[in-house]
Amino acid sequence: MAGVLIFADQKEGKFRKVIFEMLGEGRKLADHLGEELQAVLMGQNVEEYATVLGEAGADKVFVIDDPLLANYTTDGFANALVKLISTENPSIVLFPNNAVGKDLAPAVAQKLNAGQASDVIAIEYDNGLRFKRPIYAGKAFAHVSFTSNRTMIVTIRPKAFEAATPQPGKQPAIVRYASELDASSLRQIVKDVVRKASGRVELTEADIVVSGGRGMKSAENFKILEELADVLGAAVGASRAAVDEGWREPQYQVGQTGKVVSPTLYIACGISGAIQHLAGMSSSKYIVAINKDPEAEIFKVADYGIVADLFEVVPVLTEEFKKALA
Ligand code: FAD
Repeated sequence: MAGVLIFADQKEGKFRKVIFEMLGEGRKLADHLGEELQAVLMGQNVEEYATVLGEAGADKVFVIDDPLLANYTTDGFANALVKLISTENPSIVLFPNNAVGKDLAPAVAQKLNAGQASDVIAIEYDNGLRFKRPIYAGKAFAHVSFTSNRTMIVTIRPKAFEAATPQPGKQPAIVRYASELDASSLRQIVKDVVRKASGRVELTEADIVVSGGRGMKSAENFKILEELADVLGAAVGASRAAVDEGWREPQYQVGQTGKVVSPTLYIACGISGAIQHLAGMSSSKYIVAINKDPEAEIFKVADYGIVADLFEVVPVLTEEFKKALA
């Protein structure tokens, strides 16, 4: 077995920050194992993006270019990737723990009859590799090691690892692979993609997240969170209660059944701090909670707590940040 392989998920040549974090930790893994750091680019007309991966440390980039991979499908990507992994036999493959990675990694692991560690937040290198992941909604940690000598399949939580140090000018070796996909073997095809422009930074990538819960009382009231988010360059999240009320769309839900975020700053407004919400945000570096109930659970995880009516505090914060950041 040879190689630490990064699944370099991209959209129109843009890589999420997590890919650079995977390349950063991938470098450490590759050096530890004495192996090559590899990445795989999949899609249509994607070879030109390989330079970005080289400059982020990849020694070799496999390119699987095929019109059938222009849009993500589980069958297309899993079949092409399994063929590559079966041929190249990497020691480990890292996927982002995002929507695509969470769908693709288990499909690949199943086809390879390989083990998988999901949502990994740290790798321990002493006494064999061990992968640390939160369990029970973040209440405990599991340390996973692989017992078979097959390729290890691992998904990496965004913002848990340091991004790769850029190496300007580093050119990776390019190896082209034919996908050998046959349209009839794909059980789904994407006919059209309708993009919804939000102009806001993606929730799991944001350095600052401002979230609202049932305490927001209506969809319209989220406007005050958007104003605060605009000043801070933040993403806007929501509790499940706010999503269930129809005030925010499901993709903005933070928590056990929503997205996991680890920003530098998380501002929770009118959120009580249920365990299922904490599962999605307790790894944030600094947590600020605004809640009018001094007994609210959210204050147990907050670094700064403001016991007050959010409708009074949030507009003041927005004004003060505006002045401070002007
Ligand atoms: P509430 O618990 O109703 O809290 C509202 C808070 O707002 C209160 O603390 C109140 O004091 C405060 N408030 C009210 N008005 C104001 C005001 N004017 N100013 C300041 N504060 C005010 N939840 C998630 O968030 N994410 C998940 O992914 C998730 N997954 C779940 C999965 C399962 C299997 C289950 C069973 C539950 C899940 N939940 C999840 C739901 C979770 O248990 C809670 O019900 C939910 O998080 C509560 O949302 P909330 O804090 O917004 O609402």
